[in-house]
Amino acid sequence: MSQYKPQTIQCNGETFRIYLTDNKIEERVCELGEEIAQEYKDRHPIFIGVLNGAYIFLSDLMRYVEISCEVDFLKLSSYGDEKVSSGQVTDLKDIDANIEGRHVILVEDIVDTGLSMKYLVEKLQKKKPASIATVTLLHKTEATHHDVQLDYVGFEIPTLFVLGYGLDYAQEGRNLAQIYILDED
Ligand code: 5GP
Ligand code: MG
Ligand code: MG
Repeated sequence: MSQYKPQTIQCNGETFRIYLTDNKIEERVCELGEEIAQEYKDRHPIFIGVLNGAYIFLSDLMRYVEISCEVDFLKLSSYGDEKVSSGQVTDLKDIDANIEGRHVILVEDIVDTGLSMKYLVEKLQKKKPASIATVTLLHKTEATHHDVQLDYVGFEIPTLFVLGYGLDYAQEGRNLAQIYILDED
């Protein structure tokens, strides 16, 4: 195991400082996974991951959900390469699975304004699943002004830009094992 865990990161000319360590993330992801496993053990759920940001979280989360389940992905773009939401959601890829009558667990990396999550829940509802639960690793509580129901939340965080553990800044930083927050000083 690598012992190299930087406290600050330079990404696209900006400085980010450590916010959530890999240990803290792992502990919380494990708790969420076990909760989901309890709740869904007889329902053969299908996880739907929102690319690209949720890919690391989803893959870690699923390994703590030791029940029979499936996985599929869709892809959205809302941030472009900026640090603020564009206010528009663009569909880039739909799921392949037929989710009619299925129990869906929608997995996002982060809920900011709530626009993407609201859009996705409405889009998936049209496919007539038996139920939809929402999971997000991070929730910027004070920034959320769209009406969204979040069933499982990893961490509530302030309204600041974060990266690492799947989350990018202009496509960089997704590979970082820990989560970093923009250093405003
Ligand atoms: P929303 O639609 O809730 O405003 O924004 C959701 C999407 O914007 C997230 O799925 C994520 O892709 C992106 N996003 C929101 N806040 C951040 C952030 O602090 N850092 C990064 N890297 N992406 C963010
Ligand atoms: Mg996302
Ligand atoms: Mg992004």
